[in-house]
Amino acid sequence: MTASHEILLDKYAELTVRSGLNVRVGQQVLISAPIEAIDLVRRITHHAYKVGASLVTTLYNDEKTALMRYTDGNAAAFDAAPAWLFDGMAEAFRDGNCARLAVIGEDPSLLSGQDIDKVSRANRARSTAYRPVVELITSFATNWCVISAATPSHAKSVFPNLSENEALAALWTAIFKCTRADLPDPVGAWELHTKALHARTATLNAKRFSALRYKGPGTDFTLGLVDDHIWCGGASVAKNGILCNPNIPSEEVFTMPHRERVDGVVLSTKPLSYQGTFIDGIQVRFEKGRIVEGSATTGQDVFRKMIETDDGAARLGEVALVPQSSPISASGIVFNETLYDENAASHIAVGQAYSQNMKDTSILNAEEKLARGMNTSLIHVDWMIGSGELNVEGVFKDGSAEPLMRNGEWVD
Ligand code: ZN
Ligand code: ZN
Repeated sequence: MTASHEILLDKYAELTVRSGLNVRVGQQVLISAPIEAIDLVRRITHHAYKVGASLVTTLYNDEKTALMRYTDGNAAAFDAAPAWLFDGMAEAFRDGNCARLAVIGEDPSLLSGQDIDKVSRANRARSTAYRPVVELITSFATNWCVISAATPSHAKSVFPNLSENEALAALWTAIFKCTRADLPDPVGAWELHTKALHARTATLNAKRFSALRYKGPGTDFTLGLVDDHIWCGGASVAKNGILCNPNIPSEEVFTMPHRERVDGVVLSTKPLSYQGTFIDGIQVRFEKGRIVEGSATTGQDVFRKMIETDDGAARLGEVALVPQSSPISASGIVFNETLYDENAASHIAVGQAYSQNMKDTSILNAEEKLARGMNTSLIHVDWMIGSGELNVEGVFKDGSAEPLMRNGEWVD
């Protein structure tokens, strides 16, 4: 790689530590990353120690060894998960003294050829064991961040016609651009970006819409919001008092759908990768919040199994609006990775809702949250429904409405 790549990689690492995690002096940092991202992890580790981290611990994943479970493992053993490891992670995050960084970049179709039953059993076992961690992360017990690294397999999936080296270079270029790491002052740029997102959420929170109405090719549905919904976007203050950017990049503003108030049909506009398999052309019909009919042109079996994970897996936990002019959408690249693709288009997610999207969640018990319309599930999977032809209206309690997005762009 070139000298300028090394400089950009270092700026990206510094951005991750300062704007993404905002590591506090004395804090520990737990990183998970693909083994191919080791150069980036080393730079992140360097910057984390420079701002005063007490200890940086990294768990590396390797695709080749992950596959061996399917090729060489015992067929009866797909219900195992390292609960002891996840319990330890939960312990680390609970008091907010350990920040969490996930570096992603897996081959989006790593498990495509494998037995669906084994894959879904392994996913379920993992999701169940990982649940304590997910709950702490989604309720912002600590400062956390997800970023992406270009790895050979992922880069080839994005740029199949390029050589491996060209694909890697092209994906890094796109990552640096979309994350603003290629600007002279990435940390400053993220402060400005956060301000803009916070202004947007303030406007939407003042409206108190009761529902959103969507119309586009193949999409015609009404999505009710929970009464006490909160629009969020950009940086959030975690319970340990640290302001962090949980996703870099992030262009979305998002809130909580009511788990029983979604009706109509929706067509997805971009493919999604769900735990190693591609799903594309999703078409669903909602009735009283539940998916009652669902199909996909690619990965239909995996999609159907996914929404059958539990009751909440066929209901919505998130709704997000993203303008078509976002830098990720403007790049024209389909990244085969939700972190990027969800920020290129308006989207919905089935499964677990985020506590930050409803008032008073910290003092409500599970039953009360459910009664107010908050969805719960082992999964949270975003899929893209936005396009340059999508119109969205905000609907008030009295039934009147005002346009929010026209042809994929904010109206104001
Ligand atoms: Zn989202
Ligand atoms: Zn989501």
